Amino acid sequence: MGAMTTLRVLGGPGTGKSTMLVDAAATRIAGGADPASVLLLTGSGRMAAAARGALTATLLNARPGGLSVVREPLVRSVHSYAFGVLRNAAARAGDPPPRLVTGAEQDGIIRELLAGDLDDGARYWPRELRPALTTVGFATELRDLLSRCVQRGIDPIELQRIGRVSGRREWVAAGRFAQQYEQVMLLRASVGTAAPQATVPALGAADLVGAALEALAADADLLAAERARVRLLLVDDAQHLDPQAATLVRVLAAGSDLTVLAGDPNQAVFGFRGADADLLSADSPVITLTRSHRCAPAIARAISGIAAALPGTGWRALEGRDGDDEGSVTVTVAASTHAEAAVVADALRRAHLVDGVPWSQLAVIVRSVSAAAALTRALSVAGVPVDAPTAGGAVVENPGVRSLLTVLSATESGLDDDSAEALLTGPIGRVDPVSLRQLRRALRHTDRTVLDALTGPAQELPATLAAPVKRVRSVLAAAARSHGSHHDPRYTLWQAWERSGLQRRWLTAADRGGADAALAERNLAAVTALFDITEAYVARTAGASLSGLLDHVATLQLPPVAADAAPAGETVAVLSPHAALGRDWHTVVIAGLQDGLWPNTTPRGGVLGTQRLLDVLDGLGEDVSARAPLLAEERRLLIAAMGRARQRLLITAVDSDAGDESTLPSVFVPELARLASGDTDTAALTLVQAPPVLSPAAVVGRLRGVVCAPADAVDEGRRASAAEQLARLAAAGVPGADPQHWHGLSALSTQEPLWSGDDHIVTLSPSTVQTLTDCPLRWLAERHGGTGVRQVTSTLGSVVHALVAESSRTAEQLIAELENVWAAVPFDSPWYAANELNRHRAMLAAFTAWRVATRHELTEIGTEIELDGLVAPPADGLPGVRVRGRIDRLERDAQGRVVIVDVKTAKSPVTKDDAQRHAQLGVYQLAVSEGVLVAGDHAAGDQPGGGRLVFIGKPTASGGATEREQSALGADDTEGWRDAVRAAAAATAGPTFAARVNDGCSHCPIKPTCPAHNSGAEPS
Ligand code: SF4
Repeated sequence: MGAMTTLRVLGGPGTGKSTMLVDAAATRIAGGADPASVLLLTGSGRMAAAARGALTATLLNARPGGLSVVREPLVRSVHSYAFGVLRNAAARAGDPPPRLVTGAEQDGIIRELLAGDLDDGARYWPRELRPALTTVGFATELRDLLSRCVQRGIDPIELQRIGRVSGRREWVAAGRFAQQYEQVMLLRASVGTAAPQATVPALGAADLVGAALEALAADADLLAAERARVRLLLVDDAQHLDPQAATLVRVLAAGSDLTVLAGDPNQAVFGFRGADADLLSADSPVITLTRSHRCAPAIARAISGIAAALPGTGWRALEGRDGDDEGSVTVTVAASTHAEAAVVADALRRAHLVDGVPWSQLAVIVRSVSAAAALTRALSVAGVPVDAPTAGGAVVENPGVRSLLTVLSATESGLDDDSAEALLTGPIGRVDPVSLRQLRRALRHTDRTVLDALTGPAQELPATLAAPVKRVRSVLAAAARSHGSHHDPRYTLWQAWERSGLQRRWLTAADRGGADAALAERNLAAVTALFDITEAYVARTAGASLSGLLDHVATLQLPPVAADAAPAGETVAVLSPHAALGRDWHTVVIAGLQDGLWPNTTPRGGVLGTQRLLDVLDGLGEDVSARAPLLAEERRLLIAAMGRARQRLLITAVDSDAGDESTLPSVFVPELARLASGDTDTAALTLVQAPPVLSPAAVVGRLRGVVCAPADAVDEGRRASAAEQLARLAAAGVPGADPQHWHGLSALSTQEPLWSGDDHIVTLSPSTVQTLTDCPLRWLAERHGGTGVRQVTSTLGSVVHALVAESSRTAEQLIAELENVWAAVPFDSPWYAANELNRHRAMLAAFTAWRVATRHELTEIGTEIELDGLVAPPADGLPGVRVRGRIDRLERDAQGRVVIVDVKTAKSPVTKDDAQRHAQLGVYQLAVSEGVLVAGDHAAGDQPGGGRLVFIGKPTASGGATEREQSALGADDTEGWRDAVRAAAAATAGPTFAARVNDGCSHCPIKPTCPAHNSGAEPS
């Protein structure tokens, strides 16, 4: 082998390029060469780790006695190698090692500088870009453009020149910004941010390789030492290297005995990150590998077919691996996204259950993981254990993180009113808007505020309100104690976290499963990310402080979960084609191959035109199609994704006209279908409806359908066979298979009434009397857990009732208070929140209009008046009734009688006749006549003067409320109502509970299983 030889090894997926490099390294070392003389460079840290594992295994096999220790790693990513060069250069000069800044930190610095530009008028930025300067997206885009320039050796002055020549003012501005950025980074290197003594240069990932090249150019001895050391230079996936990394390889190759560049121009898919496969087209000897040792023949043929349409000179034919197994490629076009999810779920479950493929040997590749969230959810529901990156916003947007940061901020610089309320209503305090209002009201009696409650002396509060206040106080106190003892920010954060109890709470929720578990896991991931950030901040910053940490976190835009998180054990990976590089699976599903999504030919580079800048640097004119290179990169991405499959490849897409927009398959789909079938007729692609998924619930459902089918509907032999299979599943413990657990088949546990006895007293609220009168079955269901989760509408109803109880407030004041609490109400969407706010403003206005309009006839006695007492003694075998509750408003009419007012927020008023029969109003009147009102300016023996239902949910044309009246109770009526409440109370005994169809059925939580609506049908 002659000196300074460069050899290229080209080949498609699985052709053994990486294995060949590992073998070359192992052979060299086994031949007695110093291990430090071998360097294997890869495009990324993840691939370096895989190659390192393979090389170590090969060396251990070759030399079971053990290996000699090497000072420099044999396998490194290009960036890691560049960092090593800089560290050596610094050591030779007696300087501290270089300091790395993450992309998020760079974004933070860029955003600070842009904010400063805006303060100064941002005059050098084009006017149309100024509104975007403060956005996170712009900072990221600017960093990307500057990185691309660094990778191509374009300095800020040159960038400004190119911008002027090309008439692109945004590039001139970016060049000026880059000058400023460089100066600031130099300044930070010499004085530090929070550490005046720091003198370590701070480098971003894009600067590393350029800085290493500069170091090698400036220090001839360093370059000579590196060249003398590295005798065998191996480069894997060379198509992923950017121009600067390629230059570094060339610099090193100039001194090595042999350089082997392995790669595949047909899998060059990091163009958006500046990668360029140019290194692989150098004029040097080439070995082309044509046989894939990974892909089965059917898959290799399909890959060759897709590669045939690529521009350029890369390989065109890929042979499949040896052996009898042909493998398979299937293309399925589904009639809906639901059907596509069912196809994928069924294929994965069959591969695992029928063919015995481990879950970890199955993968789903999608062009965009965030766009495939619904597919991921559907797979989970169908019983496929998936491992997909968690979608989520920046760390600081997580409510748990926000609360902890608020605690740290309060510890550093005190609490204000807004932060105090935010802490109470956040995950630590967990106070809902209604309780917050009650707390404010309770505190107002002693002239104190929520802030006083958290920071002043502890004070007596009702138990339900005291608990959250105490919890927040103890978290604040724990953080303050730690800070007061001069512990570093990590310790203070830990103290607050530990005292909050959130860890136990979220871990418990995560263990329970369901939607809450997913939320709890996201919260835990976000808090873990906050601890990581804090750890990194403290480790890198001498003199780290709480305020420094808060500033640091505020400028970061990090997702809660690291993008390169290690895959979990036995799960199916759902990932992007880029994340799938370097890995392979028995079965791969490429899902969501849709028009507009894959190929995605939207020009990259955004408002700064980064892609156009690269084209200018490459000498391409405006007339060159921007779409063609993107289309080619998307095709290469498809090849890379297909090449991950060893045995089976399933490609799915949706063709549907349903919904707002039609969903069309990608242009790749007919091409793939032809390749998969060997048929040139694409009409063979028929739309597939959702197949029955091979999941326990679906199978049990189908078997039960046969077993329980009406006589003559199924063949008796089939019924017996289904029963036999069900019995097998029941014996294996599959949920729902055992008839013991089927609804309606178990025997009644008791026929006894819920209570008995002649002198039994039943305690009811007036609204319960109404429910019992309307439908005893609904009462039973709701009383025993048959209500849904507390809905937003119910919270809003409570807020409105609390507001209208404030007699002294004007409409404007009530609306202002409503707007104050609105942000804390958990709406699903902003448009709905805005709509509801308007509706509730109108309600409050309607109420105050009604109040004004009725003052000539009614005088307010009080609001939220409690009642508690016996209104009907036991009689005639019926129970006695004690009523307990609260009346919205009590008024006195011109004759001195007491009038009940009940405020309703429902949108539909009851009829006038129904109001006369309204049980709730009737019970209130009975309570007045029996003198069981607890307090207020009224007395036992007061005459009831009737009741009024005030419907504010549907204001009249004049903006007032709709009123419905119940006449004053006469002596005869009193007995009638007494009997009615006794009858309602008697209905609570059971054991039979009647289902009575009524106007409220449409809102009844058990309507789907109600016998009055379903002719006795059982729930499915
Ligand atoms: S749907 Fe109607 S009849 Fe059935 S339980 Fe509910 S309220 Fe009663």
